[in-house]
Amino acid sequence: MNRNQVLPQVQLSSDPNALKRVDFCAPQSYRGAGFLGISDLPRLAEEVSTVQSGDGFEWNIETHFEESPGSNPHQILVLGLKGRLHLICQRCLQDCAVDLAEKRRFILVASEKEADDYPVEDEEQEPLVASQQFNLLDTIEDEILLSIPLIPKHPDGFCEPFTSGIDGEEPDEVATERENPFNILKNIKKN
Ligand SMILES: [Zn+2]
Repeated sequence: MNRNQVLPQVQLSSDPNALKRVDFCAPQSYRGAGFLGISDLPRLAEEVSTVQSGDGFEWNIETHFEESPGSNPHQILVLGLKGRLHLICQRCLQDCAVDLAEKRRFILVASEKEADDYPVEDEEQEPLVASQQFNLLDTIEDEILLSIPLIPKHPDGFCEPFTSGIDGEEPDEVATERENPFNILKNIKKN
């Protein structure tokens, strides 16, 4: 018997607060999608350099049960994320748009111990401890934070390395200043 065919499928609310309490112990599967702005994700909000219109993440989630010989069926959660945030470019030190698109697969386990014992070498999926009030919003935010590049940069050729220049001025102003001595010299000659 395929468990997915007899279990009800529940639509997840796209309301961020509703995502904080999802019952993963109930005999049902879930499906849903929505959009989270940066302000819905307080830990992420601390990492970004600026928030521009359109910044945030589209998410989609589906869960299903997979038969496993000799034990209860495993509950699998697939999370898709697509969106944009702004970080400081480590080359030019200006704001830099970072686009992320991720797909993650999780297996729901019954206890912390089961999660600790789960083989880390399984790169296909990671364990999550199921609960009746599971915080899916936290899981989504965790995955975005884990996906952020360690050294964000504009694409190669799109920006110049930051130079402190003379008195911290912009490089093009420095170039103008280099010409100034000649102008000063001309003025001296005129006088
Ligand atoms: Zn840059």
